[in-house]
Amino acid sequence: MLSQLNIAFRPFHKEKPWRNAVMIFLLTTLFYFIGAMLRLVEELSLFWPLNAVMAGIFARYTWLNRLHNYALCYVAMLVYDALTTTWGATSLVINLSNMVFILTVALLIVRDKQRPERRSLPINALRIFNYCLLGALGCALVGAFASVGIDNLTFWPLFADWFSEQFSTGVLILPCVLTLTWPRWVTPFRVEHLLPIAALAISLTASVTIGGAGSLLFPLPALIWCAVRYSLLTTAFLTFLTGALEIILVANGTINIFVASPLQMPRMFSARLGIATMAICPIIVCVSVNAINALMKQVSLRADFDFLTRVYSRSGLYVALGSERNTESRHLTVMLLDIDYFKTINDSFGHECGDRVLTALAQKIQQVVGDSGIVARMGGEEFAVVATTQDPRQGFMLAESIRRAVEATPFHWRQQTLFLTVSIGLSSGTAQSWELTERFNKLLAEADEYLYQSKKAGRNRSSAREYQGPVEAVATDAGEQSV
Ligand code: GH3
Ligand code: MG
Ligand code: MG
Repeated sequence: MLSQLNIAFRPFHKEKPWRNAVMIFLLTTLFYFIGAMLRLVEELSLFWPLNAVMAGIFARYTWLNRLHNYALCYVAMLVYDALTTTWGATSLVINLSNMVFILTVALLIVRDKQRPERRSLPINALRIFNYCLLGALGCALVGAFASVGIDNLTFWPLFADWFSEQFSTGVLILPCVLTLTWPRWVTPFRVEHLLPIAALAISLTASVTIGGAGSLLFPLPALIWCAVRYSLLTTAFLTFLTGALEIILVANGTINIFVASPLQMPRMFSARLGIATMAICPIIVCVSVNAINALMKQVSLRADFDFLTRVYSRSGLYVALGSERNTESRHLTVMLLDIDYFKTINDSFGHECGDRVLTALAQKIQQVVGDSGIVARMGGEEFAVVATTQDPRQGFMLAESIRRAVEATPFHWRQQTLFLTVSIGLSSGTAQSWELTERFNKLLAEADEYLYQSKKAGRNRSSAREYQGPVEAVATDAGEQSV
C-alpha cells in the first residue's frame, strides 16, 4: 500500500487576512498570465481559466467573500493589463466582465453552502452548470459590449465567443477547484483500476478516427464509468482533461466535425453513434441510482427490523414512533415481555432451538397484537408491545391474551414439543402525538418495574399498576380474547 501523502500546505487561512490578500493578488496575476500565454497558441486561445479558478476559490473559502478581496482580484487584472497592454480605459470594462463571472458564480455557490439542506453534498453538478450559464451570460454581455469595434467585430459574434468560452471553461474547471485536495492512496493498486481510463482513451481515439459531430459524445459512457469507480476529484479532473482535449482537437482539426455533405456516410455514422452514446448515458445513471436506492432500502430495513425474529428492532420501534402521523391524543399501553427460564431451553436443546423459539414466539405475539399495536425485540429474549387501547383494562386484557396464547402454543423442535411461558409488565397512559417517544420511554420504564413484579410473583403472569390481583379474576371479568 502506498503511504498517504501528508502535506499540510494550505493556500488560505481564515485568521491571516493579509496573507490571503497577497495570495489572491498572486493567483489572479498567475492565471491572468497563463490565460495570456494560452492566447498565443491558436487552439489554446479558446480557454480563459482565470475566472473559473477565482470563482472556485471564492466559493470554496466562503470567508474570502469580502468586498476588498474581490476588489484586489480586479486590481490585479488591471495592473497586469496596464503593464502588458495598451488597452487603457477599455481594460476597466473588459476586466469588469471577468468580475461579473467570478462574483455571480461565487456568490451563488456560497449562498447554497449557507443553506443547511444543501450542505450535505460536496458539489451539486446541476447547480454549477446553471450558475456557469448565468455567470457566462453576464460576463459575455459586458465583455462583448466592451470589445465591439476591436478587430472590426460586431456584438453578437463577440457575445457568442465570450459566452461559449466562459461557460465551457467554467463547467470544466469549477468542479476541479471545488474538490481539489492532496492525493491519497488508500487502496492497494490493481491493474483493473485503470480500465475506465483505458476506455476513456479508446473512446477519444474513436472520436479522432471517426470524426463528425457525434464523435464528441463518444467519451461519455467511459466518463460515467470513471464517475462510478473513481473519487469526485479524479472524475472532475478526467472530465476537465477530456473536455479541454476535445476542444483543442476540434480546433486544430484532428477531430473533424465539419463534413461537406450532410448525408455523407461518415457524418451519419458519427451522428448515429453519438446519439446512441448519449441515449445510453441516462440509462446508466438511472440504473445506478435505482441500485443505490434499493441498497438504501435494504440497509434501512436491516436497521429497523430484527434480523432473527422479523419484528421491529429497538431502533426501528423508535423510528416507527417518531414517524407516527396520527395527531390525536390517545391511550397507549406499553408491555415488556420476557420469556420464563429461557436459558434452560438453550441449555437443554441448544442455541439453534432457542433462536427458532424466539422467531416463533415473536410471530405469535405479532399475530395476537394484530393491527392494534406494534411489536419489537428489545434485546435477547425480551419483547415490547406498544398498543393503542381504550383504557388500562383493555391493555391488560391484551397482555393476558398474549400470555395465554403463548402458554397454549406448542413449539416443535425436531421430535420434541416444547411449551413456554412469558412474564409481562405493563403500563398505560394518554399520549399526545408530539410526545409519543417521551411518553413511551416513561411507560416502558414503569412496565419494566412490573415485569420484575411478575417474575417475583412466580412468572407466567401480567402485572400493572391497576391490576396486580389474581390474574384469572381480571381476565374472566374482562371476557377472554380469542387468539
Ligand atoms: P427468567 O425467567 O428469569 O427470565 O429466566 P431466563 O432463563 O429467561 O433468564 P434471562 O432472561 O436472564 O436469560 C436470557 C437468556 O436468553 C440468556 C441468553 O443465553 C439467551 N439469549 C439471549 N439472546 C438470545 C438469542 O438471540 N438466541 C438464543 N438462542 N438465546 C438468547
Ligand atoms: Mg431476560
Ligand atoms: Mg427470561
